[in-house]
Amino acid sequence: MTTGTKIHRNVTVYRLAADFLQFIRCQRPVIRRLGRPFHRSRRYVELDITYRCNLRCGNCNRSCTQAPSDLALTVRDVADFLAQSREQGVRWDRIRLLGGEPTLHADFFKIVDRLLTYRDDGHPDPRIVVCTNGAGRRVRRVLDGLPDGVVVKNTSKNSRQRLFRPFNKAPFDAPLLHRFSDFSAGCRILEDCGIGLTPLGYYPCAIAGGIDRVFGFNLGRPRLPSPDDDMRDLLSVFCPLCGHFGVSGFTKKAKLSPAWRAAYAKYHSETTKEPTHP
Ligand code: SF4
Ligand code: SF4
Repeated sequence: MTTGTKIHRNVTVYRLAADFLQFIRCQRPVIRRLGRPFHRSRRYVELDITYRCNLRCGNCNRSCTQAPSDLALTVRDVADFLAQSREQGVRWDRIRLLGGEPTLHADFFKIVDRLLTYRDDGHPDPRIVVCTNGAGRRVRRVLDGLPDGVVVKNTSKNSRQRLFRPFNKAPFDAPLLHRFSDFSAGCRILEDCGIGLTPLGYYPCAIAGGIDRVFGFNLGRPRLPSPDDDMRDLLSVFCPLCGHFGVSGFTKKAKLSPAWRAAYAKYHSETTKEPTHP
């Protein structure tokens, strides 16, 4: 049983308008006058517990299709995150589990149980949310077994390609368009989704962790960042590679700019996995 199921849409008129405004707000002349518009969250956190997925979306912003991986957070990693949250006195408003498809994690229920125990143990604030594609019998069976007190955010995907932002179009590859962009400003995902804990560490957003997994900079913070850590240094590295920065249309086709083409080629040359990108 779950306390609620939300159907999620990733393309709306509001989002398109917000993307345009965020592009303008992240231009250096505007930032000089008004300051940076986005800050890394101290209220929301996303745990990318697995990069395994049962779907193959062409523009997956965790590269689950483009660069499959068995990397996963362990129950111990989640317990360490909760212990560090206690130590720092962080009061999360929301903790999301996602990936990849989080319900495919071998210890999914143990992780959920850790989070619920944390909430019952004097930390009543956070909403515990499972973000799922809702696809297939196995995933639905796991969702049906969720205990009370967990919210499900269901994108209700299937094998048909959906409209996505072209995540693999790096602003770095469009220098003219981005000649005034301040990448350390990030994007609204910082505040809408929160910081990310991934198998490689903590990032200002979980998407940055997914980028690091492919590019191999290995820049994740090993511990929960202190409240005064804005993580701007990481945004300066990852936002130039991220198709969520600035404004762009939506597409069903997998689009790759040169930086990503090279990164995936290197990734696949260094792993034994077969590329599945179309
Ligand atoms: S369902 Fe989500 S995680 Fe899986 S391939 Fe699609 S976008 Fe990526
Ligand atoms: S890495 Fe991408 S999603 Fe994260 S803040 Fe930068 S532009 Fe936004």
